[in-house]
Amino acid sequence: MNWTTDFIHEIGSRAPALPLLQGQRLSALTSFRIGGEAALVALPQNARELDALLRAAQQKEVRVVMLGAGTNVLAPDAGLDALVISTRERMTEISVQPGHCLQALCGVSLAALAARAQELGLTGLEFAHGIPGTVGGALMMNAGAYGGEIADVAVCAKVRMPDGMIRTLSRDEMEFSYRRSVFQTLGGVILEATFALRPGDSAEILRTMQQLRAKRIASQPLEYPSAGSTFKRPESGYAAQMIERAGLKGAAIGGAQVSPKHAGFIINRGGATAADVRALMALVQMRVESTCGCRLEPEVLFL
Ligand SMILES: Cc1cc2nc3c(=O)[nH]c(=O)nc-3n(C[C@H](O)[C@H](O)[C@H](O)COP(=O)(O)OP(=O)(O)OC[C@H]3O[C@@H](n4cnc5c(N)ncnc54)[C@H](O)[C@@H]3O)c2cc1C
Repeated sequence: MNWTTDFIHEIGSRAPALPLLQGQRLSALTSFRIGGEAALVALPQNARELDALLRAAQQKEVRVVMLGAGTNVLAPDAGLDALVISTRERMTEISVQPGHCLQALCGVSLAALAARAQELGLTGLEFAHGIPGTVGGALMMNAGAYGGEIADVAVCAKVRMPDGMIRTLSRDEMEFSYRRSVFQTLGGVILEATFALRPGDSAEILRTMQQLRAKRIASQPLEYPSAGSTFKRPESGYAAQMIERAGLKGAAIGGAQVSPKHAGFIINRGGATAADVRALMALVQMRVESTCGCRLEPEVLFL
């Protein structure tokens, strides 16, 4: 029997209301709008449903791929023979904790979290307002912008370890560094996180968020599907400047193009495949290495 039929039956008895989708394309779940079919997509609405999914997957030895908003990933054209769990617009509860802290479930968007902090007059998350990901993806990537990063505010996270144990990791245990965290090697599932903020002035926080938003709109190709910055910032400069210097601003392979607006972004200008994006990334890496002597490291994760 195909594993999906067996799995759907199993989940039906544990969490009957849980939406499960067969034949869903990953392009619908990722900001690049690229990717073939997932064997099974689950959209858990709460921690109990997520737990039921992870338990069943562990028991049946089904491969699990977690997705938040899908804004930092490139999904394969051939799809995935896996249970894809998407928390986008699900698991969105935020609670106010003592000591100017906010606790958020993994599916909370950074925009919603920053907006809640602003309403409460709490400063520290302004940088995150325009990053289009969720709490889960942001912890995984130590997302950051305009001088701030998740490592500055995340104090702990509740995680389901690969062996099924639930653990709370402290900031130190999350081992944050530039666009990295322990979660990239740990393989667990981030369930929720707590952010420590400081009292501030709501109006000023709002102004800062609006200014950063305007900067983003002016400099980034937000009108096209992408996964944000394609490469990490190298120690010796900026990826976008190096790509321009290599003469690749606007270069295209198939539907993938180095954005003419911001060379740090590869965009899907229509009908791009994962193969197009990978080929363009390889070309960029090769040319930048030969012109600037620097090997660019992908920031986008390959599913
Ligand atoms: C237009 C645009 C602008 C961007 N600007 C920025 C920016 O300024 N700064 C920045 O840092 N990034 C930026 N990004 C990239 C992206 O938004 C961030 O990396 C974000 O943190 C990813 O969150 P996500 O929920 O979309 O994660 P996804 O892309 O869904 O997933 C990323 C990784 O996290 C894992 N993951 C997701 N949720 C969980 C979970 N609950 N438990 C375990 N693993 C999980 C996934 O398996 C995957 O490995 C931008 C992207 C776009 C499209």
